[in-house]
Amino acid sequence: MKTEQELALLADADARAARYLESVETRRVFPDKYAIADLEQLGGVFPETSSDPSHTLELLDVVGGAGAVTSNGPNYYGFVIGATLPVAAASDRLAAAWDQSASSHLNSPAMAKIEKIAGGWLLDVLDLPREAGVGFGTSATACGVSVLATARAGLLEKLGWDIAQQGLAGAPLIRVVVPETVHVTVKKALKLLGFGMQNVIFAPVDDHGRILPEQLPDIDAQTILCLQAGEVNTGEFDLFDQIIPAAKAKGAWVHVDGAFGIWARASKQKKHLTKGIELADSWTTDGHKWLNTPFDSAVAICRDKSLLSRTLNADAVYSSAEDDAQKNITLEFSRKARGLGFWAVLRSLGREGVDALVDQYCDLALEAAAGIRDLGITVHNRVVLNQVLCSFEDEVKTKDFLAAVQADGEVWFGASVWKGKPVFRISVSSWRTQSRHIQGLIKAMSKHA
Ligand SMILES: *Cc1c(COP(=O)(O)O)cnc(C)c1O
Repeated sequence: MKTEQELALLADADARAARYLESVETRRVFPDKYAIADLEQLGGVFPETSSDPSHTLELLDVVGGAGAVTSNGPNYYGFVIGATLPVAAASDRLAAAWDQSASSHLNSPAMAKIEKIAGGWLLDVLDLPREAGVGFGTSATACGVSVLATARAGLLEKLGWDIAQQGLAGAPLIRVVVPETVHVTVKKALKLLGFGMQNVIFAPVDDHGRILPEQLPDIDAQTILCLQAGEVNTGEFDLFDQIIPAAKAKGAWVHVDGAFGIWARASKQKKHLTKGIELADSWTTDGHKWLNTPFDSAVAICRDKSLLSRTLNADAVYSSAEDDAQKNITLEFSRKARGLGFWAVLRSLGREGVDALVDQYCDLALEAAAGIRDLGITVHNRVVLNQVLCSFEDEVKTKDFLAAVQADGEVWFGASVWKGKPVFRISVSSWRTQSRHIQGLIKAMSKHA
């Protein structure tokens, strides 16, 4: 392919992307059944021969685009997915042309520097220990795996056991305590690491989904305690300032899953919810949710930087790098710079902008909750953050209502279960969502309420 053809193809992609973005305000939020059926056209028999790349791009745009979910729009309230801020999307676009393997300084001085700076700013904006190690990974799930492996290695090291050399068989037993409301991906990380669900201790929680400090199971120097900043249903926070000092005094490792909620810490109004979180040993969070970076961007933060790099080191004779090179503190070896989106957003929004973004979500969630209550729908949580957990008294009505709103396609939110009953959950996490969209959401709901 000649350079002109390559540039024409990229320009075509940009033009198509622009048309898509122009439509996110008005297009269906979830594709209809016809668009979903048409996705078959992306497949067929594996081609024997090559074809014009522009045809592949056109197919992707016309058929794939129609089957996409408009989560990068203002009317999507499902899960906590987040849209993408233009500066992050544009930086990603530019970096795609560079195509860097951002494993270390040697492979990409630019990306190594950018991720180092992003890591420093991240600790600053989240007000976490400035000396911590910051590994940028694909997801809070993957970052959870790396940091929980580090937690176990650290506790075992203190007991005189080198897991890297001696393995797990015969090792002192490490217990894990999690809230009953723990996120499924933390369980997944624990399963992958061989802890086994039967050995995990589930701590009882209160009505808001927070661990009850007075009912916290026994904790000792062989315990990893996982807490939450932003419970997935209610958006609530464990009582860090009560729980963490006590657990640390007993020698436990405290990890905080803050996939989206930890960003409350970047807001002057909401920071109090995270009081004491800085005392933990490790934290995970996402860029691709609340910070509105593109996928896949997440981070593992570990107070003991050296332990993180001892656990995840991937140096070889042909490839040795700094201890804190990203390949030595993340799961990946070859990787794109997952910290780029953090850098772009933090640099462009600054402290004030991140603060405003967090408050935007929280204020709009309160506005949504008020409108929803006016429709006679029960809101089950206090709405301390961006999550609104709702249902009708009647379970069947709750399910029918959700199906009807989803079928209309004007907005989208999903189902959850709270205290054993079906509910639906509205999450505000797109920079594009404004008050007028919330009013649109209420109107769309009112048709079926
Ligand atoms: C989304 C989420 C995760 C997992 O994050 P991924 O980036 O999707 O892997 C973990 N914990 C909570 C509370 C979440 O909301």
